Amino acid sequence: MDDSAASIADFIGPLRVAPGSKVRLGQDFDPRYRAGLKKRDGVELLRSGVALLAEYQERLAAQDTQGVLLCLQALDAGGKDGTIRHVMSGVNPQGVKVSSFKVPSSEELSHDYLWRYVRRLPARGEIAIFNRSHYEEVLVVRVHPENLIRQKLPEQAREDDVWARRYREINDWERYLTDNGFRVVKVFLNLSEEEQRIRFLKRIDLPEKNWKFSAADVRERRHWDAYQRAFSEMLSATSTPWAPWYVVPADRKWFARICTAAILAHTLMDIDPRYPVVSEEARQDLRTARRELEEEAPCGAAADPYEAGHGSAGGGTEAGRGRAKGRRGGRG
Ligand code: AMP
Ligand code: MG
Repeated sequence: MDDSAASIADFIGPLRVAPGSKVRLGQDFDPRYRAGLKKRDGVELLRSGVALLAEYQERLAAQDTQGVLLCLQALDAGGKDGTIRHVMSGVNPQGVKVSSFKVPSSEELSHDYLWRYVRRLPARGEIAIFNRSHYEEVLVVRVHPENLIRQKLPEQAREDDVWARRYREINDWERYLTDNGFRVVKVFLNLSEEEQRIRFLKRIDLPEKNWKFSAADVRERRHWDAYQRAFSEMLSATSTPWAPWYVVPADRKWFARICTAAILAHTLMDIDPRYPVVSEEARQDLRTARRELEEEAPCGAAADPYEAGHGSAGGGTEAGRGRAKGRRGGRG
């Protein structure tokens, strides 16, 4: 592990839920924790995090063998949308797909509960982001059991402990994904009750934020304690060695964004995707194509204007893009 990977691992260590541990949210995680950082430090840290993600995402896409799923969970006003906007601001939109999960449609309710999430999984080479995720199935559905009734389960599937069974099924599903080359990264943005109150008031007070507020949000807030319990149980039961949970302090938006970028970067660095190596046969093809293009140079033009502008070609052994990168990195 190089220095930056080690310092990222140290930084996110305290946020990780140890698999098998019993979480009591209110006592174990402080929504205002900020690792001694100031907002001022945060700007530069986020900038370097975003740049790191952009580079790794490009490599992930080029390697094209593994995918990453980032699941974001939070209570209302927890900062999911802003976190996605900031953390992914540097990456190529072609390599990322974001899915937001709302109240399920009647079509979705006619299928098994994981169906709609399966359809939005990343392909190899992609990062997918779930804004809310399959974890709603053990959160809102648990806090409001009428949601479970709408899912039209056969009787025996409702009888035994439905939540323990769902935890197991989710863990198994994530293990299956991990074993097949898809990493599952799980972030819970942990907001305090007081900070949620302040953010709701801001949404009411500022006309340009009104659209973000709904009366249902305040009704949902009345179930605060039930949600804290459901989150605590979910974190205890589904933080696994292959897909651990991270509880990100969310009362300071800037800090939540740095943490989320660091957690995603940590996974990508662990995957360490590489640009594919060009085979000798493909290199031979490149040399042949190069000769052909050079012979087409108009009278008076350089045979290879790109090379003329960038110094010696080093034998034309790599694809143009890889070559340009190598040069900028000082390796060519
Ligand atoms: P928002 O994220 O503010 O657009 O709201 C989406 C709403 O959809 C939230 O109130 C969630 O609780 C609700 N929701 C998301 N997933 C489910 C689900 N599986 N069952 C019931 N409600 C859900
Ligand atoms: Mg909402």
